[in-house]
Amino acid sequence: MFCVKCGKDCEEQINGLCMECFLNGRKLMVLPHHVDLQRCTNCEEFNIRDRWTKISEEDAVQDAALTGMLIIPEAEVVSVGTMAQAQDDRTYEVKVEADLAIGSYIVSANSSTLVRVKNNVCKRCSRQLGNYYEATMQIRSGEKELPDSLRDEIVRRIRDSVELQAKTNRQLFITKVQQVPGGVDIMLSSISLARSLTKDLVESYGAESKESASLVGQSNDGIDIYRLTYLVRFPAYHTGDVMEYNGRPYKLTGLNKTGGKLLSLTDFRETSVRKSEIQDLRILVKHSDRKEALVLSRSGNEIQVMHPTNYSTVDLRIPKDAEPAEGGTVDVVQVEDELYYLP
Ligand SMILES: [Zn+2]
Ligand SMILES: [Zn+2]
Repeated sequence: MFCVKCGKDCEEQINGLCMECFLNGRKLMVLPHHVDLQRCTNCEEFNIRDRWTKISEEDAVQDAALTGMLIIPEAEVVSVGTMAQAQDDRTYEVKVEADLAIGSYIVSANSSTLVRVKNNVCKRCSRQLGNYYEATMQIRSGEKELPDSLRDEIVRRIRDSVELQAKTNRQLFITKVQQVPGGVDIMLSSISLARSLTKDLVESYGAESKESASLVGQSNDGIDIYRLTYLVRFPAYHTGDVMEYNGRPYKLTGLNKTGGKLLSLTDFRETSVRKSEIQDLRILVKHSDRKEALVLSRSGNEIQVMHPTNYSTVDLRIPKDAEPAEGGTVDVVQVEDELYYLP
């Protein structure tokens, strides 16, 4: 084959030209004069190819430079390297060097562009800053007040869950957590998020939930917009409470959607009970009212402890697998005149 331009005999041709003639003076890669890089002033994420991403400014600047890169159709990028140099605190000059494959040749090309960092606010942050919410969870108790410890536990559980889910869906966030008489209200950016969090509380705590919708307006294209409210009512009993069952004390060791588990404080056997049964049980000692007792000695399935209020010596039955240390403390509850070891 002969090159149509220089007439040289060559093994490989591109558009009838030998590689030398093809490359001669040809620009293989171009970068725009400048690329604007959007940075959210609130979450400090950068918009790269229409996606907000949590990366360092250094990486964002180099990625942004590459978004504007164009190469000739005959070439394929083998590898690319970038080097950014700040010109001022908003502008970077980015040099791009690429190895391009053209036929069986590897040719290097370089160019540069200016990346200008622009302040902006991403959609999520503008919603969050604008107090946008689609759903409210009203966390309440079957008692008059939601106990502080339970409230804190639930709010923490919800925060952790939203934080985890937000890693894969940026539109999920907590708009507001507001303490109200009798409980706490949690405003959320998404109805499906509120629904799944409610389901979790129902299944893990045996809570009751009620959903209601209210019309808040219409979107620009005439679709009705609803906000949903999930009333989540926690039962008066909680895991760890000691309840009266068949006239004896049991510790409530687990709760789920349909019922729960009770552990006998007299023989440490576990029993499953339905939700309707638990609702009728009397709470003997709240978990927060348990006491600690000093262990004086141990023999077999019994320990001797010092009574936490009258300081007498009391023998307590313990489960086979319990390992209370002499000189340490164990949890106990007093039911009427009797003291029980609390596993
Ligand atoms: Zn030629
Ligand atoms: Zn943002």
